[in-house]
Amino acid sequence: MNEIIPLVKVAVYPGSFDPITLGHLNIIRRASRIFDRVYVCVMVNSSKRSLFTLEERMDFIRRAACRFPNVEVEHSEKLLVEYAKEKNADVIIRGLRAVSDFESEFQMAMTNSKIEPKIETMFLAAGDAYTYLSSSVVKEMAKYGADLGKFVPWEIIDDIEQKIKNRG
Ligand code: ADP
Repeated sequence: MNEIIPLVKVAVYPGSFDPITLGHLNIIRRASRIFDRVYVCVMVNSSKRSLFTLEERMDFIRRAACRFPNVEVEHSEKLLVEYAKEKNADVIIRGLRAVSDFESEFQMAMTNSKIEPKIETMFLAAGDAYTYLSSSVVKEMAKYGADLGKFVPWEIIDDIEQKIKNRG
């Protein structure tokens, strides 16, 4: 009988996370059950202006995801596939909310597979309670003083409100 060699399956979940939402956290939780290790990577993208600093965004994710022992939070300025290769990742995870996400996500997945065919992109369907939710919606709601409890992890609500207040 063939011996079964346990393989460590590693996934990378990249994004801007400006800030992390309950939709992102739902994907992180589900990915942490499928993979042995999940690297949530805040991608530093110079063409995208973010409200929260890199440190804030990483701190928010760490606080929200600290209950998942196999999840680590990092950042990268590199090309995503280069970062994934460095981590020995088998899979890049992306969340899909609606058909409107599909085109750009599909294009990105194809491009990445041309660069590194060994790394698969896997899409997780957004949790049904979060299909409408994005970081932009959170920022907009925060400006109007809406209750953020339905949108973001409770651990970071005060910090988001504070930041919006300071920005006037
Ligand atoms: P990016 O700028 O890379 O799209 P985001 O932080 O907006 O970064 O999103 C990171 C990933 O999480 C993307 O794959 C996005 O489709 C997914 N995502 C965003 N919001 C949700 C949500 N509410 N539910 C599930 N997945 C989501």
